[in-house]
Formats: sequence, structure tokens, C-alpha cells
Amino acid sequence: MRRCGNWPLHGEEKGRSRTRETKAKEIQITKRTEKRKETKGEIPEAKGRRRRNRQDRQNRQDQVREALLSILFPRCCPVCGEIVVPRGEKICPDCWKTLSFVSGPRCLRCGKELETQDGEYCLGCQRHKRSFVFGGALLNYNEVSARSMAKIKYQNRREYLDYYSEEMVRRLGRLMSRMEAEVFVPVPVHPARRRQRGYNQAEELAMRLGKLTGLPVCADALVRTKKTAPQKELSAGERLKNLEKAFAARPEFLPPGTKGVILVDDIYTTGSTVEACARVLRGAGVKRVYFLSICIGGDR
Ligand SMILES: [Zn+2]
Ligand SMILES: [Zn+2]
Repeated sequence: MRRCGNWPLHGEEKGRSRTRETKAKEIQITKRTEKRKETKGEIPEAKGRRRRNRQDRQNRQDQVREALLSILFPRCCPVCGEIVVPRGEKICPDCWKTLSFVSGPRCLRCGKELETQDGEYCLGCQRHKRSFVFGGALLNYNEVSARSMAKIKYQNRREYLDYYSEEMVRRLGRLMSRMEAEVFVPVPVHPARRRQRGYNQAEELAMRLGKLTGLPVCADALVRTKKTAPQKELSAGERLKNLEKAFAARPEFLPPGTKGVILVDDIYTTGSTVEACARVLRGAGVKRVYFLSICIGGDR
């Protein structure tokens, strides 16, 4: 009886404790749901924080790897070719001073240094039609930069591009942020030349720029169908026509919906190569073409 009489009371007690249990479970479930919501991206701050942490961790790992690599394989300077001192740097401080960075008033179209303060465009951009929106380069093409570019191209000194790509992002970052483009496209070399050399220096540069900026690289969007020997006897117009026939666009390799492209090359001299590539890409439906190069010739 007592036991029986006690049942309801016990039951109530049990009921109350069950209610407490249920409540605790509910709280747990709510917490879990919130956690799930966080991971699903419904709380953007938390997701951003996690991404930043991940990025910081990645950066620290990259720094450690860089430091270890610089001990195992010391870096060579892109100017003198000697091992860079201090370790960890990518160029000798003295050699850095010998580089001629593009500065002062520049052509609004190609980014060449202008010889005079007046005028907005260089002679080349005034005289010739440009199918690209605008572009820019890091260095003036002179003896020092020409020697460095030749080593990259013919002596497999691709490591020099690490320094040049970082400096390009640092110095041309503002210009790049104005480029409404979704992808980097390197200026291609003929497949036979690529086989012989083992790489395309423009593609190597584009890959590094892509890694630094997060923009994808599409090396298949342009192909070189003909080897073009330097044809000095031809006029600028004829040369351009010949060059145009040497490139073909393969827009099917571009990410769907690509409207803007940044062409990447090592040297911009008269601009005829970039112009030919820009025309071919525009002909294939790309709306905007920009360019970036390491070196650029003088205003002639
Ligand atoms: Zn040096
Ligand atoms: Zn120009």
C-alpha cells in the first residue's frame, strides 16, 4: 500500500526529473543544432574566424617550409645569380637597387613609363589600335632585366619568378584590383618549343601569380599554332597580322561565364604579341582583356 501510495508521488518525482532530463536534452539538442548551423555557414562570423585560423595555420606552415627550403636549397639572386645573403631573402639588397622599376607618369593603356609629363598615352598606344583594356609591368626592359629574363627562359632559372611574381603583386596590386577578370591566361609558346625547353616561362609566372592572388590560371585557353621567327623586315601591321594567325583561342577551356582575362607574359616590347592574343580572345567572345608582364620596353 505504502509502496502503491507512493507510486504517484514517486511517479511525480520521476516525472519532474524526466522533465528536467528532457529540458537538458533539449538544451543539448539546441546547442548541437547551433553548432551544426555554424558549420553550415549560418553564422558567418564563426565561419570567417575558422577560415582565418586555417589561413594563419597554412601561412605558418608555408613560412616554416620556406625557411627549411632556404637552408637546404639556398636561393639564387635573379640579378647576379649568386646565393642570396641574407638567407630567406629572394634578391640581394644591392642587386635590388640595380633594377629599374616602372615609376613616374605611365601610359594609361600599357603602363609604359612616359618620357614627358604631358600626354596620357605612349607613342605605341597612340599609333596602334589596342584590343586590351589596360595592363602594366614591373620593370623597365634594360640590360639588367634582359639578362635576368634570358636566364629564366634559356637556363631554367624558374626560381627567379618567385621574386618577380611577389614583387608584381606588391607593386601592381592596385592596378590588378581594377582588372575585372576571372582568370589568368599565359601567352603560349609553340608546343615544339615547350617540349624543347620543358616549360613555358609565361605559364610559370601565371601559376605563381595565381597562387598569390587566388585567381585561377587557364593555360589551355590560348595555343600557339605557328612558330614565328622574328620578322624584322615586316611592318608593324604585317607583323601583327602574322602573329594573329600564330595564336588560336580555345574558349571551351575557360571557366564557364568568363568575361575578363588577364594575359601574362614575361616581356612586353612593342605590344604586338599581347595585341594579337587579345584580338584572338576577343574574337572568341571574351569581353575584356588585360595584361601583366615582368618587363616593358621604353616609350618608342
Ligand atoms: Zn644579387
Ligand atoms: Zn602605351
